[in-house]
Parts: sequence; C-alpha cells; structure tokens
Amino acid sequence: TNEKSSELIALEEKYGAHNYHPLPVVLEKGEGIYVWDVDGKKYFDFLSAYSAVNQGHCHPRIVNKLKEQAEKLTLTSRAFYNAELGKYEKFMTDLFGFEKILPMNTGAEAVETALKLARKWGYEKKGIAAGEAIIVVCKDNFHGRTTTIISFSNDEDARKHFDPYTSGFIAVEYNDVDALKQVFAEKADKICGFLVEPIQGEAGVNVPSEGYLKACEELCKQNNILFIADEIQTGIARTGKMLAIDHENINADVLILGKAVSGGAYPVSAVLANDEIMNVIKPGQHGSTYGGNPLACAVAMEAMQVVLDEKLADNAEKLGQLFRSEINKLIQDFPLFKSVRGKGLLNAILINDTPDSETAWNFCVKMMENGLLAKPTHGNIIRFAPPLVINEEQLHECIAVIRKTAEEF
Ligand code: PLP
Repeated sequence: TNEKSSELIALEEKYGAHNYHPLPVVLEKGEGIYVWDVDGKKYFDFLSAYSAVNQGHCHPRIVNKLKEQAEKLTLTSRAFYNAELGKYEKFMTDLFGFEKILPMNTGAEAVETALKLARKWGYEKKGIAAGEAIIVVCKDNFHGRTTTIISFSNDEDARKHFDPYTSGFIAVEYNDVDALKQVFAEKADKICGFLVEPIQGEAGVNVPSEGYLKACEELCKQNNILFIADEIQTGIARTGKMLAIDHENINADVLILGKAVSGGAYPVSAVLANDEIMNVIKPGQHGSTYGGNPLACAVAMEAMQVVLDEKLADNAEKLGQLFRSEINKLIQDFPLFKSVRGKGLLNAILINDTPDSETAWNFCVKMMENGLLAKPTHGNIIRFAPPLVINEEQLHECIAVIRKTAEEF
C-alpha cells in the first residue's frame, strides 16, 4: 500500500468502528468484473460485495435507471402510494411465482420480516398456543446481524456479549434430514417454520447433498411447517439458476431475497409468500420508512431485468463448471489446495492448513498483489464469487493469477 491508500486506511482506522477486517486495498472505481484502487491499479473482483454485484459493477442500465428515478422521486414513505411500487410488486411476484411481496432494505431486515411472518402465521393459521412458536434453523447458519438473528447463531464472535437472546429457535445439523425429522416428530405442533440457506455461504460455501433440500421441503409440507429459504446470497442467478432451490424444483413457502436484487446500486431486500401467509400482516404491524421506495423499486426492476436479458444464470452455470474443473487441475499441482466446492459461480477453495492458521488470509493478500480480490470465510476457506458477467477468457486469466500466486506462495 502506498501513501494515498495508507492515508485513507488510517482515516477508517481512526474514525470508523472496527467491525470489519478488510484487505488493505482502497477501491474507488468499478466496471463489470473489475475494480480499481486509488492508485489506478486494476483488480478482478472475486467477492462481488458478497454476491450483491452479480450484474457487474456500475452496470450502465442500472446506473441510468438510478439517475433517472433519482431525478424524479426517491422517497415517499408508505404513508402514500407511489408510482413504482405496484409495478415492482407485480414484476417480482410474477417472476418468482408468489402472490405477494413485502419490500425491505437489507438482508437482515428481510430475514427478520420472514421470522415475524412465520410466527404470526403459526399463531393465527396453524393454531400454535400463545407464546410457544418455534422456528427451526441450521447449525453454522448466517442470516445477518440483528439481535434476534444472532440469537440463533452458533458463531461465538457473532453472539458473545450481545445477550440476552431472543428465544424460540432450535438449531439442527445442516444437511441432515434425520435431525430435522426428529425435531419435527417431537415438536411439530409448535413449529411454524424451518429457515435454511440452500448453500451456507458464510460458513464456507457448504453445499448440501443432492436431495437434502427436497426432503426438507417434503417434511415441512407433511407437518404444516413453513419452508423459509434465505436466498439472499444464493439467489439471483449466483448458483446457475435464478434461485438455488430451483436446482431441486422446490417451492418455498417464504422466500427471502436481498443483495443482487439491486445489482449493488441500492439496498433492496424482499420477502415473498402467498396470500394465505402474507395476509396475516395487517396495516401497522410491520414496515420500514425506506422499504418499497420508488428509487429502490425502479432500480431493482432494471437490475432483475438485466439478469434475465443477459442470461446470467446460464453463464454462472457454465463458467462455474469451468472454474471448478480448472481449480481441480491446480489441486493436482499444488498441495496448498485441498479441494474446491460450489455451485454455479459460488465456489470456495479449501486450503490445506489448520482452520486457525493465517494461510488463507496470506494467500488472499498475495492474490491481491497479483490483481485478484477474494476473501477467506470461516477458517481456511477462500470464497470465489465473481460478478456473473465474467466471460470464459477472463476466467482463464483469473485462473492464471491464482496459479501464479500459488507458484510464488
Ligand atoms: N442471509 C444470508 C444468507 C447472507 O449471506 C447475508 C449476508 O451476507 C444476510 C442474510 C444478511 O444480509 P445483510 O448484510 O444485507 O443484512
């Protein structure tokens, strides 16, 4: 890092809360799969803002829509109707096959919304006794940072000293149908929902066995329990289909979206469900000042249309296979790499070292110096998730950067 970067990093260190540990690179420009730092050095972005920038940085169509709508109307609150919201709601419900959508801003807010919705449905439709509703979650989950959400995390960093916690959650082993079956057998009368990530992103791109999600969906149906899919990271073409649950033809009862819904241009999240579920929420019972604002709606519609027009799901599927097969070749040559896993363009390389070693971090610093940005997730796992607009030639260049870094490491 040179002088300009050092100064800007020092500002964040001094004046910002230390709630992140960034790689030492200061970005000021982005276009497609590339970002540039303050010295003009160009990088491949293999994080995509945790899969929020699936459409690529500063996609011209999305930026234009943002400008156009920003000059017209940005925020009305939901005290009034606005000219974009209804169009957006129709667009999204048609696209994802639900009767209703509830618009929010961040991922964590959408998860909170889904939890509230499931509980209320549990009391008013399923007939769960007052105060007894349970939501089943999975171990090693990541659903956001609010007090309720961290209440059912098992990551000590995320939880410790933020107690007392919200009760009413039971965690079962991920990718274990029998564990879910057992908890349902014991407590189905009290359980209103099962919240699951189709692939656990933050936990290190944990891809469950084929058939796991389908079996969970069926168990939920049998027990009148809502199947709640958190597709905030896996959705919007990231894994090679519009939704990761589409790989197993699953119909979630409650679908949670965020991140790439806006292509990184604006915070937009949403919960989708059918009338029978969504209509339990009445005026005054839930909301958000910015949720469903006209700027968010206009930007999100354009960003989603880009995903469709540019066939980003197909590209993610094709290039994801190429990525994994190329990395498997590297694994033959470099014992540093243990394995590669993932779906579409949500992938991770497991590094051959203990989970508490710094090897993955150090490797990411070296890749950064060589012009590719990626970050470790839990332990010695590096996630590789480029914008979905990447092409074959560019992906080969990236593989070459990873190979070069391994040679030098
Ligand atoms: N759920 C999942 C699966 C996520 O990956 C994330 C963010 O990484 C969230 C929820 C939280 O989203 P946000 O950071 O927008 O609150």
